[in-house]
Amino acid sequence: QTALAPSFDGNIPIAPRPTATVGRVEISDVTKSYGTNTVLRDVSLTIAPGEVVALIGPSGSGKSTLLRTINHLETVDRGSITLDGQYIGYEERGGKLHELREAEILRRRTQFGLVFQNFNLFPHLTAIENVVEAPVALKRLTKPEARELAKALLARVGLADKVDHYPRQLSGGQQQRVAIARALALSPKVLLFDEPTSALDPELVGEVLDVIRGLARDGTTLIVVTHEIGFAREVADRVVFLDGGEIVEQGTPIQVLRSPKQQRTRDFLAKVL
Ligand code: ADP
Ligand code: MG
Repeated sequence: QTALAPSFDGNIPIAPRPTATVGRVEISDVTKSYGTNTVLRDVSLTIAPGEVVALIGPSGSGKSTLLRTINHLETVDRGSITLDGQYIGYEERGGKLHELREAEILRRRTQFGLVFQNFNLFPHLTAIENVVEAPVALKRLTKPEARELAKALLARVGLADKVDHYPRQLSGGQQQRVAIARALALSPKVLLFDEPTSALDPELVGEVLDVIRGLARDGTTLIVVTHEIGFAREVADRVVFLDGGEIVEQGTPIQVLRSPKQQRTRDFLAKVL
């Protein structure tokens, strides 16, 4: 299985990283409603291993919901989502989909790392303890192994000197970088970011985007919901514009951000640029 030449509808140009072989996300005809509110409408999107996708769109357009359906934190009403050909919440038996047991869903979900707007660190744990927690709880690593890994990951996000700090002793940007290190601790195939810089003071946005930029270079599949249009332009292989639960337009950053074809995209960009 090669990372090259996945087929996209509409000849969407992509820049797969030759080193990436895992982390292919296939979203097919996904529809989701909350009561009578249809939040995702026939969303189809295939993301290649190592691809960096920026998901943009107005508030309430379904960005967070789409992100949460990808790792099965939300179920869909119709359609399917797979990671490297595998469902997170189901298995196929006898030509039918059967819901998996919770423990198996949790295990499969660890193939995704999720980073939220509000960091969601454990406040009573230090930076290193926050990173160590999951690999030890899931019995992936021994405590000493996990601490070694956590130190390396915290160094990678520029926090080698903050390992024993508690979240309250860290700036927002530092807390978010701990959250990224924590998300990396289970070696996810795909990282999902939901507005990772929205809660930060403007002067702290850059240090978090720098870390995400580094991850993009390393060849991890990244799906980033963001309002940072400049960042999307610079880092994303593909920009996807969601409005009213539909993919209105997608393409390279230049195509979508510089010469959008759809009026809805132009209207949105006029507001945020
Ligand atoms: P975005 O992230 O683009 O701002 P969301 O995915 O959060 O959009 O929300 C899309 C729509 O779904 C909104 O109308 C929101 O009110 C609704 N919604 C999101 N989560 C829930 C939920 N758990 N229950 C009911 N409605 C929800
Ligand atoms: Mg959201």
